[in-house]
Amino acid sequence: MQTQRLRIAIQKKGRLAKECQELLKRCGVKINYTGERLVVHAENMPIDLLLVRDDDIPGLIMDGVVDLGVIGENELEEVRLERIKLGEPSQYQLLRRLDFGGCRLSIALDKDQNYNGPQDLAEQRIATTYPNILKAYMDKQGVNFSTCMLNGSVEVAPRAGLADAICDLVSTGATLEANGLKEAEVIFRSKAVLIQREGSFSEEKTALIERLLTRMQGVIQAKE
Ligand code: ATP
Ligand code: ZN
Repeated sequence: MQTQRLRIAIQKKGRLAKECQELLKRCGVKINYTGERLVVHAENMPIDLLLVRDDDIPGLIMDGVVDLGVIGENELEEVRLERIKLGEPSQYQLLRRLDFGGCRLSIALDKDQNYNGPQDLAEQRIATTYPNILKAYMDKQGVNFSTCMLNGSVEVAPRAGLADAICDLVSTGATLEANGLKEAEVIFRSKAVLIQREGSFSEEKTALIERLLTRMQGVIQAKE
């Protein structure tokens, strides 16, 4: 279902939401975010914003349901690997890396446990929300392990006796420390990115995307 208006998916609430809104505003896109709507219309450009959970953004792009999306590379890569596994569409185009949402996906374990390298994780159970990225990393290291899938409270899994270690997002390390864990291995570094669906675009949409990208370049450079 193609519309004339450019459709952009961004996170509704969470760590990427505010900065996405701010970036669009600085690019001159006027939007009124009040209310609990899924779709909001820009007042001064043919742009519709979809306000969704970040987990849904990669799929919306890969299925060609929206034109552009802003998403953390961690989530994007996890969904891409999952879709490859399931034989579902997993293509997208990277338009640009953004200057927010920086974090790393790391393996962490009890701070008193000895750690000399990935081989120390052999036959351990690792709790994570990112089983595909973790498996790709462990396969590359040639280390056998098992997982425990958790969509929240990953950092308490070792203390709760659910897992030996965790693989979770870290920015300052304060959460790890508060839970008696230490960062053992960084397996993925992430930032927010702007992505585009595959396939063709109308001339108007192509021109609008170009314009947005040029403005974004200016906005990001001005901050540096
Ligand atoms: P949603 O309700 O949209 O599913 P969420 O709880 O999955 O939200 P957030 O915690 O808002 O997601 O994080 C969104 C993204 O922000 C992460 O996927 C990651 O790319 C980025 N991020 C940056 N720093 C951190 C951090 N310290 N912890 C978690 N995510 C971070
Ligand atoms: Zn999410």
